[in-house]
Amino acid sequence: ARELDLEFRVRADIKFGDVGGMEKVKEDIRMKIIHPLKNPELFAAYGKKPGGGVLLYGPPGCGKTLLARATAGEINASFFSIGLHHVLDMYIGESEQKLHKIFELARKAAPAVLFFDEIDALAADRRDMRQSAGRGIINQFLEELDGSRSSNDGVLILGATNAPWHVDGAFMRPGRFDRLVFVPPPDEVARREIAGIHGRGKPLVDFDPSAIAKKTEGFSGADLRAVFDLATEAALTEAMRKGAVVPVSGKMLMNASKEVKPSTRKW
Ligand code: ATP
Repeated sequence: ARELDLEFRVRADIKFGDVGGMEKVKEDIRMKIIHPLKNPELFAAYGKKPGGGVLLYGPPGCGKTLLARATAGEINASFFSIGLHHVLDMYIGESEQKLHKIFELARKAAPAVLFFDEIDALAADRRDMRQSAGRGIINQFLEELDGSRSSNDGVLILGATNAPWHVDGAFMRPGRFDRLVFVPPPDEVARREIAGIHGRGKPLVDFDPSAIAKKTEGFSGADLRAVFDLATEAALTEAMRKGAVVPVSGKMLMNASKEVKPSTRKW
């Protein structure tokens, strides 16, 4: 259990304020999972009980993982991040075991957010793998989600996928990933916020997040991050030459934005 803990537990030291844009998505998460967890009696009065999972979907690099981590941060919960591919990539029978242990770990650590990236791998792998192995892991996953053996109280389950249409329909039934939330590519306002976030803690000069937002149509949050990384490298190179701190300038950022390709255009 300790090994799994080390493998999958990630620090949840960020909050919604560290995730740019997504006002609607954050509100959805608040209503759908944070409030029910905090006020179970209130929700019960309306015949709603907490539980079930939320499936985040949308283009890569737009903050699904970041949002899941921030959700854990918002409620001071432990955060476990599981690349599903990683779990599936094991000997037959072992993946089921491992999945079970991961759920156990999260239940013990409750309140916890259990985040599964690449949920679509389940459906995809069913075609590749021997039928029995694929079915076994899917059934195990469904069983854990349903909490048939032990309760998932205090465990919030989030999933992410870039290809929701590949996810086995059985996962979308009530009590499972029954709520679908679209995490969109950032619009201009969101990009301005993301630029502001990426600029934190760096020496900056002539920094204009609005100007960056305007010039980065189609960029994901991860693309914007790449822009900041490139510009920071340029500043660092100069700083090393001079032997003194050189701030990251608006110009360096603009130049960098020309080098990075927008990745969300086709969405
Ligand atoms: P994938 O589908 O590839 O797993 P994802 O949607 O989970 O992508 P993240 O891994 O959350 O994307 O984002 C990658 C990185 O991009 C983050 O660590 C962060 O630095 C940056 N980023 C993405 N979206 C945002 C955002 N909305 N606000 C701030 N940073 C962001």
